[in-house]
Amino acid sequence: MTSAEIAVDIENVVKRYGSFTALHGVSLSICENEFFTLLGPSGCGKTTLLRSIAGFEEVSSGTIRLKGEDITGLPPHKRPVNTVFQQYALFPHMTVTDNVMFGMLRSGWSKTDAAQRANQVLEMVQLGGFAARKPAQLSGGQQQRVALARALAPRPAVLLLDEPLSALDLKLRQAVRVELKSLQRETGIAFIFVTHDQEEALTMSDRIAVMSNGEVQQIGAPPDIYESPVNRFVADFIGETNLLDVDVHSVSDGMATLSLPGGHGFTCPAAAMRGAGKGHLSVRPERIALCAEGAGDLDATVTGRVYLGTDIQLHVRLADDEAMTVRLQNSETTIVPEEGSAVGLKLEVGAARLLAD
Ligand code: ATP
Repeated sequence: MTSAEIAVDIENVVKRYGSFTALHGVSLSICENEFFTLLGPSGCGKTTLLRSIAGFEEVSSGTIRLKGEDITGLPPHKRPVNTVFQQYALFPHMTVTDNVMFGMLRSGWSKTDAAQRANQVLEMVQLGGFAARKPAQLSGGQQQRVALARALAPRPAVLLLDEPLSALDLKLRQAVRVELKSLQRETGIAFIFVTHDQEEALTMSDRIAVMSNGEVQQIGAPPDIYESPVNRFVADFIGETNLLDVDVHSVSDGMATLSLPGGHGFTCPAAAMRGAGKGHLSVRPERIALCAEGAGDLDATVTGRVYLGTDIQLHVRLADDEAMTVRLQNSETTIVPEEGSAVGLKLEVGAARLLAD
């Protein structure tokens, strides 16, 4: 990406709270017109990073640039960014339009311009007909859209979103995800979205930064993160996976030869593994096929079956007692083995990801 395409450039940002370090030298660039997600478990530092971009937190060291301009020392109101929070806190006594106009009027827009822009953004979030209502007369999803309209109204260069969907129920959250993504496309500005929900991140993002303990573990498009995790943390955090302890015997021409639990040989792309040693093989449950005992890469006993509607989840146990899960697509032709039966497991070579110890 060229510097002209970078909306936000974060370089070596450190944030300390007393003796505790919440961000350990984070560097990443967010492109213009990108839906970028900061994803990680509670406490990993994603909100701290978002608040540092907004200017609500002063960083201990490092630089934050917005469209090439160093904004590290600027107070929040001087930064051309806006934030949508989890608690969207609309003014209850004001109409929808007045809520949306409030920020614009405070930053010097004329009443006419602010009213015109408020109409425009309310149309954009499909609330054109709700302008005269008070927040209490709206559903949770509609209130969330007012908060979005309010944040987008002053035409920020970047929109920051801090877990904005977590107050909504599942069905509504799924609907708003789609709307949010198309709103980002329509406005053409960078959205930086914070969530701990991996499904939310996978479905909406152009790219995701996976964080843990104040560090970025991996940055990539959703398929890269899911298919090619760089370490155990990412493999385990994104989606469901089986992590098998394996002995790598050799690596040559980018392929690793290893033994699986139970002793079967297996060859797969070496990924980050440079030579012989202990490693972990990450295999997604849906990338394992069932076969007859002895005919696959692993032998296992079925310990449980869970009906999930579109899929059937099988719990199996290997001879060394290691537990694994397998996902079978639910169709008329799917044969689901009985609990207690012995099965063979065939791993998809291209989908098995070898990770260093
Ligand atoms: P969550 O999903 O729970 O909001 P998060 O990934 O957004 O988590 P942060 O809120 O960024 O995490 O917090 C990162 C770490 O910094 C946490 O361990 C938190 O306890 C710590 N922290 C945040 N704010 C402060 C503060 N004002 N003083 C001291 N420690 C803080």
